Amino acid sequence: MKSVAVVGAGVAGPTVAMALQRAGFEPSIHESHARGADDVGAFVILHVNGIDALRAIDADTCLDGLGFDTPRMRFRSGTGRSLGVAGTGMPLADGTVGRTLRRTDLYSALRDEAIRRGIPVEYGRRLVGVSSRKTGVVAEFADGTTHESDLLVGADGIRSTVRALIDPAAPPSRYVPNLYISGYARTGAVDATPGEYQMVFGRKCFFGYTVAPDGEIWWFANPPYPNEPSPRELRELGSAHWRARLADLLRVDPGPARRIVEATRHDLAAWPVYDIPTVPHWHRDRMIVIGDAAHATSPAAGQGASMAIEDAVELARCLRDAPGHQQAFAAYEKLRRERVERVVATGAKWSNSKTVGPVTRMIRDAVMPFMIKHYAGDGGASLGWMHHHHIVWDERVPARP
Ligand SMILES: Cc1cc2nc3c(=O)[nH]c(=O)nc-3n(C[C@H](O)[C@H](O)[C@H](O)COP(=O)(O)OP(=O)(O)OC[C@H]3O[C@@H](n4cnc5c(N)ncnc54)[C@H](O)[C@@H]3O)c2cc1C
Repeated sequence: MKSVAVVGAGVAGPTVAMALQRAGFEPSIHESHARGADDVGAFVILHVNGIDALRAIDADTCLDGLGFDTPRMRFRSGTGRSLGVAGTGMPLADGTVGRTLRRTDLYSALRDEAIRRGIPVEYGRRLVGVSSRKTGVVAEFADGTTHESDLLVGADGIRSTVRALIDPAAPPSRYVPNLYISGYARTGAVDATPGEYQMVFGRKCFFGYTVAPDGEIWWFANPPYPNEPSPRELRELGSAHWRARLADLLRVDPGPARRIVEATRHDLAAWPVYDIPTVPHWHRDRMIVIGDAAHATSPAAGQGASMAIEDAVELARCLRDAPGHQQAFAAYEKLRRERVERVVATGAKWSNSKTVGPVTRMIRDAVMPFMIKHYAGDGGASLGWMHHHHIVWDERVPARP
C-alpha cells in the first residue's frame, strides 16, 4: 500500500486524506498549527458542488447540524433597491442546498471525520523542505522531525510551501485590493429572509449579511484598501480602527449595515483578499499541490472550499486508476485545470464589480437585474457549469481524460 503525506489540515487536506484512504492508500496529515488555531471569526458558504463532492466519499454527513441552508442571494444597490435574486446552485436530488457555516466548524468537522476514519493527524509540523529519494519523498519540518512517504500532497493553502518546492519560480498570490471583515450580531429586525443573503453594493463598501435560524445576523464587508497591507499592519490597526472605518464607509447607505456592525460585540479582524490566476506547475516528481495552493480564488466566488474538496476527491480517483503517479498527476491536471481557473477568473470579475466609481455604479445597477435574470436566476441554472459538478466515485478515470 502506498503512503501519502498530506501537508495541511484545512479543507483540502483532510478531504484528500479520506479520499486516498478509500482509494487504497495510506495517508497521514501534517499541519503547522496547533489544533484549534483556526480563524474563529470567519464563515464560508459551501455550495452544492462542494457538498456533492464530499458525498462522493460519504463524508458530507460530518457537516450535519452545522450552519444553516442559504440557497439564495438577493443583490441590492446602495440605495437598498433589490436588483434580483440568484440561486447558489440548483438543489441536489434530495433537496440539499448551499450551506453557510463557521469556518472553524468546517475545518474541525473534516479533521474529526478523518481521525474517526483512522487517519493520523500531526499538529505543530510546519513543512520547510523536502528531499527526494528514488523510492519516495522525505518531508522536513521546522521542529527538526522528518517523515518519509511514497507521495506528498501539498494542501497547504494560499501561501503554500509545497508550491514553492515544486517550482521556486511559481507566481506569488495576487492582492485583490479590498479587505474582508466578518462578524456576528444581534440587533432589531432587519430586512432579510432566512436562507437568503442580502448582498449590498454599497456606495463605498460592499456588505453582505444573512440571518441564522436563531436570529443572529452573520455579516461580512469588503472595504476597499488599495495598497496591500502586511499582516502586522492589519493587526496593529486593530478592532477599534475597523469598527470606525466601517461605520464611516457604511454611513452613506440607507440599509441596516451600519447598525449591524455597531451591534457586533466581538473584536473585528481584517483579512486581505488574494487570488492566484494560474500556477504553471502543479506537480513535480512525487509532489503535487491541490486546493488554494494550486488555484486560490477570491472569496467573491464563494467557491474556494468547494473547489478544494472537488480537487481532493478527483486526485484520489486519478491515483487509484492510473498505472503510476506521474500518469495520475497528468490526468488530474487535465481534469481540473480549466475548471478551477475559470472559477478564479469569475471570482476576480465579481470581486472587481464590488467597488466602482459613480458612473459604472449607475450602469451596473441598471444592467444587473437583466444579468441576474439571465445568468443567475431560477436557482442559478446559467451558472450551472460552476455549481452542478458531479463526481462519480466508482467511475474509472480514463487514461487520457
Ligand atoms: C475571509 C475568507 C472568506 C472566504 N469565504 C469563502 C466562502 O464563502 N466559500 C468558499 O468556498 N471559500 C471561501 N474562502 C476560501 C476558502 O476558505 C479556501 O479556499 C479554502 O479554505 C481552501 O482550502 P485549502 O485546504 O486549500 O487551504 P486552507 O484552508 O488555507 O488550509 C491550508 C492548511 O495548511 C496549513 N499549512 C500552511 N502551510 C503549512 C506548512 N508549511 N506546513 C504544514 N501545514 C501548513 C495551514 O495552517 C492550513 O491549516 C474564504 C477565504 C477567506 C480568506
